[in-house]
Order: sequence, then C-alpha cells, then structure tokens
Amino acid sequence: MNQNLYSLLSGHFPKKPAAPCMILPDGRVWTYGDIERASGRMANLIVALGLQPGDRVAAQVEKTPEALVLYLAAIRAGMVFLPLNPAYQRHELEYFLKDAKPGLFVCRPQMRALADELAGKAGVPNVLELDDAGSGSLIAAAAPQADGFATVTREASDLAAILYTSGTTGRSKGAMLTHGNLAHNARTLHSYWHFRPGDVLLHMLPIFHVHGLFVACHCILQNGSAMFFEPKFDAARAMKLLPQATVFMGVPTYYVRLLLDPGFGRVTCRNIRLFVSGSAPLLKETFDEFKARSGHTILERYGMTEGGMFTSNPYEAGENGRRGGTVGLPLPGTELRIVMRSGIPGDGAGSLCVPGTPLRGQVTAAKPGVVGHIQVKGDNVFVGYWGMPEKTQEEFTADGWFKTGDMGSLSADGYVTISGRSKDLVITGGLNVYPKEIEELIDAMPGVMESAVIGLPHPDFGEAVTAVVVRQKNAEGRALTESGIIAAIKDKLANFKVPKWVYLVDELPRNTMGKVQKNILRKTYSPMTSR
Ligand code: AMP
Repeated sequence: MNQNLYSLLSGHFPKKPAAPCMILPDGRVWTYGDIERASGRMANLIVALGLQPGDRVAAQVEKTPEALVLYLAAIRAGMVFLPLNPAYQRHELEYFLKDAKPGLFVCRPQMRALADELAGKAGVPNVLELDDAGSGSLIAAAAPQADGFATVTREASDLAAILYTSGTTGRSKGAMLTHGNLAHNARTLHSYWHFRPGDVLLHMLPIFHVHGLFVACHCILQNGSAMFFEPKFDAARAMKLLPQATVFMGVPTYYVRLLLDPGFGRVTCRNIRLFVSGSAPLLKETFDEFKARSGHTILERYGMTEGGMFTSNPYEAGENGRRGGTVGLPLPGTELRIVMRSGIPGDGAGSLCVPGTPLRGQVTAAKPGVVGHIQVKGDNVFVGYWGMPEKTQEEFTADGWFKTGDMGSLSADGYVTISGRSKDLVITGGLNVYPKEIEELIDAMPGVMESAVIGLPHPDFGEAVTAVVVRQKNAEGRALTESGIIAAIKDKLANFKVPKWVYLVDELPRNTMGKVQKNILRKTYSPMTSR
C-alpha cells in the first residue's frame, strides 16, 4: 500500500468534490475538489521543474490556501517540504537554503531579490513567488499543468518534511519527519480527540509550525470536513467565528486574549465541542477562568517539532479527566519516561518507566511527583536532524529514546506535568531550581499577571534565581514592588530558591507560538546583574 501521507489524507476526502474544505475570511470556499486539482497541478509543476522524489521544496510564504496546497503538492509528488517562518531574515534564510539545498524555493515577491541572491549562492535551481493574496509566478506556472496527478508511492520511512527548530541555542536543527511519523500522529489525534463528520475547525494558527500545519490541518483533512482558514489569530474574528465552529486549537496566548473580551462566554462557545491548547504552558488560572466563563474544560496537550504530539489530556472530560496544569497522558503509541539523569551515553537502559521503577545503569526512573528528564519513543518520533548525525546520536539514548530536553514529572496515575526546558533549569550554589515552582507562587499573588523565572550569572552562586514579573493593570498590580514580591514568597520557599532579583515589566517576550523567550530575558537582564 502507498504510505504517502497524501494518500492517507485524500482517502478520507469526502465523496462529493464540492464539499467545503477551507472557508476564507472573504467568504470564498476551497472545496476538496479544488484541493485535489490544485495540488495535482502544483505536483505536476514540481516534477516538470525537474525535481526528483526526496528533493526538498522550501517555502517562506504567508498563510494562504495556496500555501497549504503547496505543502500537499510537495508531499504528493514525493518531495520533502520545508516550511519557513516568514519572519526569518537574510542570515537565517541563507543558512536554511545552504543546509537543505532545496530544488525549489517559494518566496514572497518582496523577498525575491534576496531569494535569488541566496539561491544562487546555495545552488538552489528554482525560485518562484507566492504572494500574500495567493497569486504569483508559482500559481501562474502551475495553471497550465494537468489537474490529475498519481500520488507518488512512498514508504513509511521516506521523508515528508524537515522542520527547523527555533534554535535558541546554537545552530537551528532540521528535524526530519517521515510519512510514517506524520501519518501515525494524524491518525492518533483524529481518533483520540473524537473527530466526527461535520466538525468545523477554527484555524488561526500559522502553518509553518507543527501545531498549525500538522496537528490542525491533518485532523481536519483526515476528517474530510471544513475549517475557517484565517490568516492569523484575531480575538474579534474569533468571537465572530467561534459560534459557527465545533473545534478550536490555539496557543495559550489566544485563550488569554479571548478572556480579555468581556463579551466572551457560553454563548460564544455554544457549538464548540473541543478547545485544544499547546505549544507553551497554559496557566492554571487561564484554564480555571476559561472553564468558569465558557463552561469548557480546555484540553491541553504536549509535543514538539521532533515528533508531533506526545501526550494529551483525555477527551472524556469527566470529573478530574482533563487536569489543568498537566499535559495529560502519553498518547496511544507513544511511550514516555522520566529519568533522573540524561546526557550520559547508554542512559535509560531499556525498560519502560513506571514511576519509581529503577532502570538499569546509572539512570533511575523518577518516582511520582519527582522532576526529571522527559524521554519519548514511538512511531511519531522523528528520525534525526538533517545533516547532523552526531547531534542526532546525542539526542537519542543508546536504547532509542529521544531526549526531549523538557523536564517534568508523572503523577501516580500517569499524568505528565512539564516543569520547563532543561536548559532553563537554574543551578544556584550547585542546587537545582525548577522555574515553574517559583513562577506558580508568584503568579498566585494578587496583582500578578504572569512571571518568568530565569538564572542569571552570579559571582558566588554561579546563577542567581531571577524573576521577571508582569503586573496586572489594576490597583493591586500597581501596588506590587520588587521587594514586596520577594517578601511574600520568602517563607514559602527554601532560601536558595527565593529570587535574588525581581524585575517588573509590562510584558514578556514571546515568539509566534506564544512561548516565552527566556533566552531574550537572560540576554536583557544579564548586564544588569553585573552592577
Ligand atoms: P516546538 O518544537 O516549537 O513545538 O516546541 C516544543 C516545546 O514546546 C516542547 O519541548 C515544550 O518545551 C514546549 N511545549 C509544547 N507544548 C507544551 C505544553 N502544553 N506545556 C508546556 N510546554 C509545552
């Protein structure tokens, strides 16, 4: 059987080609028939340009239906799709093109001169344009091509996509995902989240990232139903469209912004059956407030570029089913364990972690509630970093577990709680401090909107625990002071965990996926500690 992901998806397309797939802000509709034909034309074009299966197709374009079709055409033709954040600038682009050497680079018209220059340097033979309205030389070149295209046969182990990680430390790495990886995750999520005929998704996420492209689009394409395909998140648009949708997927910031609208409530969500959150931690307060205002329990899940989704809160929302502050249980087909040491060759000696079970060698499985390194295994886990065999080897244990780089703990009944990235762990005076523990205490203080705890260089302690705190815009927020925050949590924490420095700010730096960029905070505040 053809393992090409496109075959899996199109096998679920509705029998009627006129069935809607994407509903655009101006009311235009892309039907499933349109998708089949347009991806057929584009796949024919890619082949006509001389690309061979396995060649890369890179795209740095805005979110449009044509951009999604380009992705589908690329995998349909057996190519490897490489989506790039439109925010990337010259030096990032130069690196990606040189590293991945795509056979085709699709850019926005305003980037054309730079694209030609960099493509020339990197030896990329074809550059075409796709503008923010979905037109351009790519579309013009595809127009005369035939609509029909026989989806190229692929094995489950063949590459379908390379997604570059955000690379906050060192070089950005291209995570290689196979047709099998993507298909496994698509099938699992579709069934775990109970997708059903007629589901309508409100899609406001970017599509250069695993969340918007794979999680959201694959669920709906496999469901053969429709999505509102919006260029980006906009709270006012969401308020308008939510009543017509049944599923919404967002990063935590979207939920925070919805709650800021006084009109948001049960009526807005009357047709929704599922709210999904991920890509960054959802604050327990947001989870609780959302429940109180809308009557809905947000389902939080956890995953990453290197493997799609690893865990999810259960669909069955019954009492204590979806737990705020946790990312739920390992998904079917994904094994997850928490180990007390990582980074040593041959660690994690082979047995699946049941909390409290000793593993062989120098590594022990964490007991329930104890924070350790999260490692995963499963058909969804990527096959390695493009062109970086040593890095790939470093990131897997000898017995094949992927070291996620996240720290977390398991409850006695298997729910996972994330404590943050291991590189964000603060080591002060030789002792480990997990930022989340302190952030939770600070966030619970009256007047605090949110906080981020980081480690900054300190002459005595190596690193000093530092809190960057966003105040609420009310009297309680205005009354907060640096020393007041320290005083309020002092008796709740061991001395070494108490922040040495506190900074009050208006907002935290976030990337497009809503992740707090702690590397930026460290850079901003490090010079201030050498005073
Ligand atoms: P990315 O590869 O850009 O999708 O980022 C993956 C990282 O985002 C993970 O390794 C986690 O650190 C973080 N992440 C994703 N989902 C969650 C979540 N629900 N809660 C906390 N962190 C998350």
